[in-house]
Parts: sequence; C-alpha cells; structure tokens
Amino acid sequence: MCAIAGAFDVPNASYVISLMLKAMQHRGQEAAGIVSTDGKVLHDHRGFGLCDEVFANVDFASRLPGTAAVGHLRYATTGDSNSPECIQPLMAALRYGPTAVVHNGNLTNYRARRAELEEAGAIFQSGSDTELFLHLMARSHAADTVARLSESFTRVEGAYSLLVLTRDKLIAAVDPLGFRPLAVARLGKGYLFASETCAFDLLNVRPSLPVSAGKIIEVSANGDRSTAFAVPQRTRHCSFEHIYFSRPDSNAYGLSSNVVRERLGSLLAERAPAAADLVTAVPDSSNTVALAYAEKLGLPFRFALIRNHYTGRTFITPKQTARELGVRMKLNAVKSVVHGKSVVVVDDSLVRGTTAAKVAALLRDAGATAVHLRIGSPPVIHPCFWGIDTPRRAELAAAQSSPAQLAALMGVDSLAYLNVDDLRKALGDEAGNAYCTTCFTGTLPDEEPDVLDSELIRDR
Ligand code: AMP
Repeated sequence: MCAIAGAFDVPNASYVISLMLKAMQHRGQEAAGIVSTDGKVLHDHRGFGLCDEVFANVDFASRLPGTAAVGHLRYATTGDSNSPECIQPLMAALRYGPTAVVHNGNLTNYRARRAELEEAGAIFQSGSDTELFLHLMARSHAADTVARLSESFTRVEGAYSLLVLTRDKLIAAVDPLGFRPLAVARLGKGYLFASETCAFDLLNVRPSLPVSAGKIIEVSANGDRSTAFAVPQRTRHCSFEHIYFSRPDSNAYGLSSNVVRERLGSLLAERAPAAADLVTAVPDSSNTVALAYAEKLGLPFRFALIRNHYTGRTFITPKQTARELGVRMKLNAVKSVVHGKSVVVVDDSLVRGTTAAKVAALLRDAGATAVHLRIGSPPVIHPCFWGIDTPRRAELAAAQSSPAQLAALMGVDSLAYLNVDDLRKALGDEAGNAYCTTCFTGTLPDEEPDVLDSELIRDR
C-alpha cells in the first residue's frame, strides 16, 4: 500500500505535497519522494524513511521549485524494499520530454509484460511494476501524453491509481475497476490529488471528489479535461481501505471510513455479542469499531491498551521477527483497567494473528480474567494481488485454522468475526458490485483474467 499526491497551479507545490504526504504517512513508511516542475525542468528529491526525515533539510523553493509537483510514500508490495531505484516518483527522459510517475496499486501482469519488453530490448532500471507505464508510454506513437497513457492501460492489468507529471501537465488516472482510492479537490484556481482526503483537510480544501474508475483527468494551463478510457460495469474498490487502511477522517471512494467502521462495530455486536465487564480496542485502527460495538451492547468502553506512537505500524515492518518485537514495543496494557475484569478486545482484522496473540497475552499478564476477541471484518483467507500486503496463504491464520482452533492458539476464551454479508452491508454494497472482497471470499474476478494464471497465484 502506498500514498500518492499531486498539485497543479499551486504556489509552493512541492511543500504542499510534503504536507499532504505527511498526513498520509500511515500508508507507507519505507520511503518518500517528490518531483516538481518549474515549467522547463523536473526536479526531484527522494530517500528512505519517513517524510520528515527525507525532507528534513530540503529548501523546497530552491530544491523542488515550481507550481506543480507529485509525491509518493512507499510501502513495498513489489520490488525490493531496500532498492533506491524503486523509490517513487519514477522518472524517465522520454523523447516527448521528461516524465515522472507515482502509482498506488499492483499490476497483476507485470512480470509477463516486463519479460516481453525486455525481449524487445527494453532496459529496466528498477524492480517496480510502476516502471511499466514509462516503458509503454515511451513506445507509444500516440499524439499526446493522455493518449500515450491510455494506450499503456491497454497493456496492463490490475490496480493502478496514478499521477503523471510532465513539464507542463499533471495527469491523474484510476484503473477500470477502481481498486485503489484517489480524490481530487480545488485549491484556489489550482488542483490537488491525493490517495486520501485527510490530505486535503489540512489545507482547508473542500469539497473533494473521488476520481472515478476508468477516468483520466488532465490538468494544464488550459484547465482540466476528463476522458473515460474504460466504462466499468462494476467496480472493485478495496474493502480493506475502509476496514484498516484509510484514516477514519478520510472518505475513500466517496464514502466516510468512519461511518463504515461504526457500522462494522454495530453489526459485529449484533452478530457476536459477548458478556464482559468492558470493551477495549487495539489502538488506533479499531477504535471506532470497538466503540460502536460497546455502544450497541451497552457495555463500558475503556482504553485498556496504550499505543506508543513513536514506533509506527507494526504490520508495515515487512519481516516477521521485527513485526513481533514491534507489537511489544507498540502496545502495553493498563493494569488498573484490566485487573480482575473480563474483557472484549476488538480488532479491525486478523491476518497472521501476530497482533491478537500478543494482545491476549498482554491482557492476561495485566490480570484480565477472560479475553474475548472480536474481529470487525471476515476471516482473511486469500492473499491480495492488488496492493494490500496480505501474506501467502500459508501465513494467513484463518486460511489454516477454524475460529475455535485459532481461539486456542491465541489464548483467548472466544473468537468471532464479522461475515461477508455484514461487511457488504456496512459498505452499502449488498449486491457486491462495488467492493472487492477477494481476500475474504477467495473468489477471483472474471474481469481480471490474467490473475488466474499469473505468477502471483503460483507464488502464493
Ligand atoms: P496480524 O497481526 O498479522 O494478524 O495483522 C492484523 C493487525 O495488523 C491488525 O491489528 C490490523 O490493524 C493490522 N493490519 C491488518 N491488515 C493490514 C495490512 N494489510 N497492512 C498493515 N496492517 C494491517
């Protein structure tokens, strides 16, 4: 998962982008980068680490000048996380002029397309699937950047919300199934694009609109021009955005993630009530779900787990041992809240089970008499191919064990999940035509034929 941001006709564009990236830091903590244009030259700065670290000593006006810029936060899902060539924006000197691209999502036919292009003589600079767009645009003979980009979309499959910056244009596009979120807003006479709307709020820009699936928006000195390169019959917005990834103060795909989480909590209470002295959350991503769960059952909500905010998101640490230590560094139990009490602990999701097992142990060590685990989403039984970093099936706890077996493994007194119908209800998508739930159902989409025989399936 990653974040992208773009600005056009905005004073101090690169500085504005750095603020927007910072608001979306939860989406990726491995690397950050910005490319700006002064109308003649593209300027770039990038590095490993958090936004504040990467841009600590950057004088934006001189290092990244201009009124248009794009930025990216990296959370590696393809490519090597240690490789500097993978830090976006990726840039290339195309014969049409310098071009930078930032991309959120995974291309499911990357390896096949890359092999074809290499066969034809292409030299790839990185292990990032995003590079495909630059190669495909470079090869196109179409008349302008939008046409070249649309042509590249006929060759790729999968998830792509992206921004392309040239000397004098900013182009935004979302794949035909709308997997990853992207929103647009006006700032004065200029334009802003961001993965999450929380990035706009700090700039007092409202209202924002989602960029629709299958759309390209070109912004230039002539204003904006929107074209549809595909007309979707249905979309496959990511349900995990609302469950976990987006900040609750963001709207993803035009829907408030906070509203979805409140519905999830309340449906979970109906589906899996528990008798206990108190309800608590695994902060921060399950706070809203846990609160709604407690409210619905009339149980007191208490902060029984305290998060150290300086350790980052543990899941985002790609190695398992680091992740385990990370959970311990990140969470601690409040003994005075928990001692002698039976506790319902609500988490937004259970993937490998690392967090739940640690949390159960923390609560018991702090004196809880019983621990009931409630999960505000269905069991994750299938990996994601479109950009959420769910592991191989063998590492997915729910793909290996039943809830009762998992409860024993995690050391909890009971474990219950939400079901897929309730998730769809919370998303306002009872018919299942708007949101992707492949990680919960294992059902692969007909619209994505390449996925079925892709190397991704074989790998996992
Ligand atoms: P796990 O510890 O592997 O069971 O992962 C579940 C925990 O990580 C939950 O507390 C979630 O809040 C969080 N989480 C779930 N999915 C993701 C994801 N794809 N990326 C980052 N964090 C996640």
